[in-house]
Amino acid sequence: MRSISILGATGSIGSSTLDLIRRNRADWRVVALTANCQARELAALAREFGAELAVVADESCLGELREALSGSGIEAAGGRTALVEAASREVDLTVAAIVGCAGLAPVMAAVERGGTIALANKEALVSAGEVLTAAVERHGATLLPTDSEHNAIFQCLAGNDISDVRSITLTASGGPLRTVADLSTVTPEQAVAHPNWDMGAKISVDSATMMNKGLELIEAYHLFPVGLDRLKIVVHPQSVIHSMVEYRDGSTLAQLGPSDMRVPIASCLAWPARMDTPCEPLDLPALSELTFFAPDEDRFPATRLAREALKAGGAAPAVLNAANEIAVAAFLARQIPFSRIAAMVAETLARGNMPPAPRSLEEVLQVDAATRARASEILELA
Ligand code: NDP
Repeated sequence: MRSISILGATGSIGSSTLDLIRRNRADWRVVALTANCQARELAALAREFGAELAVVADESCLGELREALSGSGIEAAGGRTALVEAASREVDLTVAAIVGCAGLAPVMAAVERGGTIALANKEALVSAGEVLTAAVERHGATLLPTDSEHNAIFQCLAGNDISDVRSITLTASGGPLRTVADLSTVTPEQAVAHPNWDMGAKISVDSATMMNKGLELIEAYHLFPVGLDRLKIVVHPQSVIHSMVEYRDGSTLAQLGPSDMRVPIASCLAWPARMDTPCEPLDLPALSELTFFAPDEDRFPATRLAREALKAGGAAPAVLNAANEIAVAAFLARQIPFSRIAAMVAETLARGNMPPAPRSLEEVLQVDAATRARASEILELA
């Protein structure tokens, strides 16, 4: 039996992870489950899985959590410090599935105890970059990429020497708006209606703007040290090939699978072995064709912004991420049109002097907070 904590248990990745654990109940001891404020949902999960601890990051929801857990014997806690404490508890595997930079401090806590972390929370790696990868190295932690593209690359690299890699290609579905002519009238409902994947609202909007692929480019840069020039993006609307690695002898290895996050999550849960999943196998004749296109960075400039932020270095990736989080929240709240999201990120990156590269978790969080304030100002001025 292995022990596990799931940070962001009430979300899309959290639910998919718990679905796999539910089917293999005898294999897992659930230590901590966390949410932001969905206290009743969290309490129900904690009871179902016999968790030792349930934490809401938003302390104002702790009363509701306590009430929902009363008589269960399950420990309830609330607030950012409690979240970090939960992530510090010794477990065999931590699933990092909080959305946004809010997940960074708990990821760092899991890294600092030298843990194995299934990392879905890409924003943590985008914001903290070398600060996080250096901590992984220093504390002997292990990051298992859970994002489907990075999990695919991880699998294609297994048993090979990274110095033999000629290029890595991240595939992108292109999102729900790839063929929509007028992006100025896109509503949040249209933007979150992803054709292939069922995901949380923020990542669904990121897929629609292609910022998701931009964030993934930065994530890949840190996870797979082949250099930015060897990282490519190709639009592949069917989302069957999840990414590819080309070697110097001309061989390209690809990982294929259904568009179901339980596949990469299972790969992390069972790593380095394999486990069964209930996912539908691929039916290649039914698919009949796989197509590929170059990204259109005139219509969807987010991947260019991400590449430029990586090249600019310093705090630019953390600024890009924080500005995007503010812009996406504003779009979902119907405060700005879809086309303003990337424009707001570009304006925030261009405004003022870029802070130097953060050297610690605290410095990353300072950049994140300062950028949120700056992006909110831009929002109010508009
Ligand atoms: P969801 O929005 O579905 O879930 C987010 C989870 O994080 C919920 O448990 C939520 O709690 C919690 N949460 C939200 N805000 C905070 C906060 N401020 N502090 C602490 N916890 C918080 O997101 P997804 O599951 O879609 O995505 C999670 C991460 O995984 C993201 O980084 C995303 O990019 C990445 N990812 C997701 C994929 C997917 O298919 N969904 C695919 C690949 C990567 P509550 O329910 O209380 O709000």
